[in-house]
Amino acid sequence: MIPAQGYENARVAVLGLGRSGIATARSLKAGGAEPLCWDDSVEGRERAEAEGFTVADPSHDWTGIAALIVSPGIPHLYPAPHPVISSAMEAGVPVDNDIGLFFRSLAVNVWDQLEILPRIVAVTGSNGKSTTAALLHHIFTSVGRPTQLAGNIGRGVLDIDPPGEAAVIVLELSSYQTELARALTPDIAVFTNLTPDHLDRHGGMGGYFAAKRRLFAEGGPDRAVIGVDEPEGAYLANQLAEGPADDRLIRVSVARKLTGPGWYVQARKGFLSEWRKGRQMANIDLREISGLPGTHNHQNACAAFAVARALGLAPRIIEQALHSFAGLPHRSQLVGEKDGVRFVNDSKATNVDSAEKALLAFQNIRWIAGGLGKDGGISALAPHLGGVKKAYLIGHSAREFALQLGSVPHEICETMAVAVARAAADAETGDTVLLAPAAASFDQYADFEKRGDDFVAEVAKLL
Ligand code: ADP
Repeated sequence: MIPAQGYENARVAVLGLGRSGIATARSLKAGGAEPLCWDDSVEGRERAEAEGFTVADPSHDWTGIAALIVSPGIPHLYPAPHPVISSAMEAGVPVDNDIGLFFRSLAVNVWDQLEILPRIVAVTGSNGKSTTAALLHHIFTSVGRPTQLAGNIGRGVLDIDPPGEAAVIVLELSSYQTELARALTPDIAVFTNLTPDHLDRHGGMGGYFAAKRRLFAEGGPDRAVIGVDEPEGAYLANQLAEGPADDRLIRVSVARKLTGPGWYVQARKGFLSEWRKGRQMANIDLREISGLPGTHNHQNACAAFAVARALGLAPRIIEQALHSFAGLPHRSQLVGEKDGVRFVNDSKATNVDSAEKALLAFQNIRWIAGGLGKDGGISALAPHLGGVKKAYLIGHSAREFALQLGSVPHEICETMAVAVARAAADAETGDTVLLAPAAASFDQYADFEKRGDDFVAEVAKLL
């Protein structure tokens, strides 16, 4: 655990008592503060009470409260601030989150004794954050560097062990987290890509981009790794660089060839290449790496490669580690194969963009889609359905998706069990049965993991 610094003997309110909220309360207590815990749900409050924390709604009286630390799921601005947050703002109490607390609390005096200081890598972007962060964790584990994975994946940031000599801490940070944190000082920051998501929480695309950009604010990371295939990434890269040869910036692309004197990592036709000062430094064949299928995963590989290079690893060593990466569950995960038919779980494809990437990564697809659809449904996927032999539609959006599929063969299956059975019955050698819902899971499941687990269980019955 990282004890919170800066609040010795102070009262600090904690709003939201899930995993990160409880970790925050523990960290505050360890740092000598007195946490005052609150959650709208009884279960949350009971969790805190069970650990002996004081539980009370802080909005009744902010006197003597130094700060309010908020969980990422609780809106602080759009669509409307949570009433406890409004009341803190009204009272002039600074609002922060565990990420801000983490960055302010991490460096401690004992670091003076270290020869190689810990390095913090923070990964943000719309898609590929978890995969890139997990891949980085895997690369550093394979070379024997002490490394920990935290944030949106792995442990809560304040839950990690105090890092020692040459440690690498890899953080996955969502836009909810970067928007509110009052301190954001990673050594290396990664921006994978940007496509519309969570727009209700950020008041539109501009707000969403602004939330992610905070990680790269002036005076921010020593090195930035930026995916430049969207205008926002290109703009961010331009703003951060002093000129074309500025190598505090590593540009990543999977869409076009980058040229010039700068530092680039790009993937084209399945090959990753690194260029610096006009010279090629590395060339890696990604096509046979089973844990990283598709161009979208090649983007993640490029971003992770860039970070590992920035931290001094040799290309050959990184290449070896890429080969042994197993991939993450629910992201283009091969879960079984029978009679030449592959079953792939991409339950995490909760939006149109990630579903598009999955659809482009495979051929002869028996596509299981649907759930709680997002604005516009799947109309934006129309140009990418060439590889789909037939769609098997489930969940709340099944009928809406069916209308949008037009002439693409499809069938309304309602449930995962029916969809998997029907897709498997239709499938021929060389086909891929792909769960890539392009929708949230909450109409039928608690979360995308449960939906993916259900798919895996149904597939297991067939194998
Ligand atoms: P995040 O943590 O940003 O949500 P994940 O690595 O969990 O990212 O992947 C989320 C979804 O997006 C999965 O469906 C995955 O297959 C897809 N995906 C992964 N990497 C990328 C990428 N670079 N671009 C687009 N989609 C991606």
